[in-house]
Amino acid sequence: MPQHPPEPFRIKIVEPIRLPSPEERRAAIAAAGYNVFTLKAQDIFIDLLTDSGTGAMSQNQWAAMMLGDESYAGARSYLRLKAAVEDIFGFKHFFPTHQGRAAENILAAALVKPGNSIPSNMHFDTTDANIRARGGRPVNLVIDEASDPQNPHPFKGNLDIAKLNAFIQKVGVANIPFGMITVTNNAGGGQPVSMENIRAVAETYHAHGIPFYIDAARYAENAYFIKLREPGYADKTPQEIARQMFSYADGFCMSAKKDAIVNIGGLLATNEDGVAERLRNELILREGFVSYGGLAGRDLDAMAVGLYEGLDEAYLAYRLGQTAYLAACLKDLGVPMIEPPGGHAIYLDAGAILPHIPHAQFPGQSLTVELYQQGGIRGCEIGSVMFAHPDPDTGEMMYPHLELVRLAIPRRVYTQSHFDYVAETIANITQQAHTLRGYRFTYAPDLLRHFTARFEPIP
Ligand SMILES: *Cc1c(COP(=O)(O)O)cnc(C)c1O
Repeated sequence: MPQHPPEPFRIKIVEPIRLPSPEERRAAIAAAGYNVFTLKAQDIFIDLLTDSGTGAMSQNQWAAMMLGDESYAGARSYLRLKAAVEDIFGFKHFFPTHQGRAAENILAAALVKPGNSIPSNMHFDTTDANIRARGGRPVNLVIDEASDPQNPHPFKGNLDIAKLNAFIQKVGVANIPFGMITVTNNAGGGQPVSMENIRAVAETYHAHGIPFYIDAARYAENAYFIKLREPGYADKTPQEIARQMFSYADGFCMSAKKDAIVNIGGLLATNEDGVAERLRNELILREGFVSYGGLAGRDLDAMAVGLYEGLDEAYLAYRLGQTAYLAACLKDLGVPMIEPPGGHAIYLDAGAILPHIPHAQFPGQSLTVELYQQGGIRGCEIGSVMFAHPDPDTGEMMYPHLELVRLAIPRRVYTQSHFDYVAETIANITQQAHTLRGYRFTYAPDLLRHFTARFEPIP
């Protein structure tokens, strides 16, 4: 039997959840046009839609919120966050923002010119969109192992250095205002990046005079993967490992809704004085004054505490252990998924679970609907609903390589018995997989259609 790490906390405040009856679930999902984004949260039993901003804050974070200093400028809350950011990340200039995408927007506004290219292992979708919004081109150069769901490579988030060198040669240094890497690689399944790779990426960028920024949403999970998997780091603390990761970079942007375990917040930092000035002016225009960046003072305090809690070794062992536990349960039951599991989510291989449903009938959507109908569980389709698009030249429909359903794990929210229930529900579904049917659109917008599309089952 797979091992679940005991939760390194006990429960003091509870939020009731309720499993609606099978009839209620069928009615709710039909009324939602078979789109789980349209469901009411009160109709969901276990919500694995995202790990972003859905974590449980600790007693120390809630206590810190009571100390929130709501002064417009120079608040004590800001100084406490500044001290934590300097201690953990060590950059000369830092700015709070209201989310990760706000930090990306400001970075892109300051640095990206039309026609520029920004390489990374893989850009997350908001980073990709913020670069495009400034006329830039986001470029993904992750290693080839990342696209093979069964490849056991320990650092499937690594950036391919040979591809990066070739890319820089091709487009020219003048067209690359900065380079990035995302840790862990969210768009690629939450797979980690090794310290060796971060160092090599930094050396490659710097050899060409290109500044290097880290998209750091899950930096603490990445640090713990390095501790577990990379030789030479077993005796270092996650904070020491994180410090080393950031020592190679010129700056970072971050959604604090992930590893800082807050419900809202983001961070932006740089060592470049000239860039800091542009970021500061852009921040004041779009987010707020430099000492609050669109957040309340109490939010800054919750973040200052959460940054340390997210690096705590007992927490990280439990966090990655819980994800690994769900993956191990599913593997025992023979459920196909991306392996090894990443830090924050499990990716079910809906194409392999439902081989009788073609891309055009959305196997991932069918599995997502069934997870809700059978168990009141909300996951997220990451397949043809999200990514299929007509080829601009031929008009032929282009389908993604994999039809996935993501089960993202909120931080400190669900316990072992919840995950046993999730695994049992999935096992039941896979046994009746041949009875599941495909779906078709009754409404679909042109862009980002997964959020608002409506569907019907194909008879
Ligand atoms: C969530 C996330 C973002 C965007 O952050 P928001 O706080 O949702 O705006 C950017 N990059 C990565 C890797 C993320 O996971």
